Amino acid sequence: VQNQEFLVLGSQLLTDLKDNIYCSTNKLMELNKLHNHSGFFLIEDTFYNDTRHYSAVDYSKPIVDWLDNSSDEVAEKWDAISSGVLKKRQKDLLKGLNISNVPEFKSADMQSTYFSDLHFRLGAGYLYCHQGNCKHTFVIRDMRLIHPEDTQNQAEYPLMTFHMQRRFQKCSVCQIYLATKMTVDDKWAPNNPCYFCKQCYYLLHYKEDDSLLYHHTVYDYFQE
Ligand SMILES: [Zn+2]
Ligand SMILES: [Zn+2]
Repeated sequence: VQNQEFLVLGSQLLTDLKDNIYCSTNKLMELNKLHNHSGFFLIEDTFYNDTRHYSAVDYSKPIVDWLDNSSDEVAEKWDAISSGVLKKRQKDLLKGLNISNVPEFKSADMQSTYFSDLHFRLGAGYLYCHQGNCKHTFVIRDMRLIHPEDTQNQAEYPLMTFHMQRRFQKCSVCQIYLATKMTVDDKWAPNNPCYFCKQCYYLLHYKEDDSLLYHHTVYDYFQE
């Protein structure tokens, strides 16, 4: 499912795009005070790490280290992934020459890389990873010159041209307020999982003296 689409300028940094990508995980982590500034884009054979914040971690380091230190395992895995692409004859040829067909992965800083510096293929699926293990696929769909119908104000870029319509989860009981709680395997709930607004949730799960009515599993629910 496509979530968002942007127009970016070649003169913009990769971080300009990262800062505009909407992901509910960011919100969730912020609310739980676990927000993490690290993240990378993997474009072709380069990991572009966001290392602007002092607490940011180079997520690509353990991957690049593993690539460097476990070359046999890497070659085997790479072979399995790319076997559909590379013909057997080509592979035999590479083996005979003792040349690995694993690309030489490297890392660079996201905050100092301009879109105009990138080597990419249109339509290829690339990876965006952030907040530890939240992963998204992104595609550079098109590349063109700016034309008169485009917004000429550079400050408006990255310009969001598409954002999937968000569907808000309402309370299953009153059907009026937005859900803030979600119960699982809740024996008195009409659905599983079941969504509640704050009022309905407390009304149906707690007595007037604030003691629990019955045992149940509940989570805070965040609107995507
Ligand atoms: Zn995410
Ligand atoms: Zn309600």
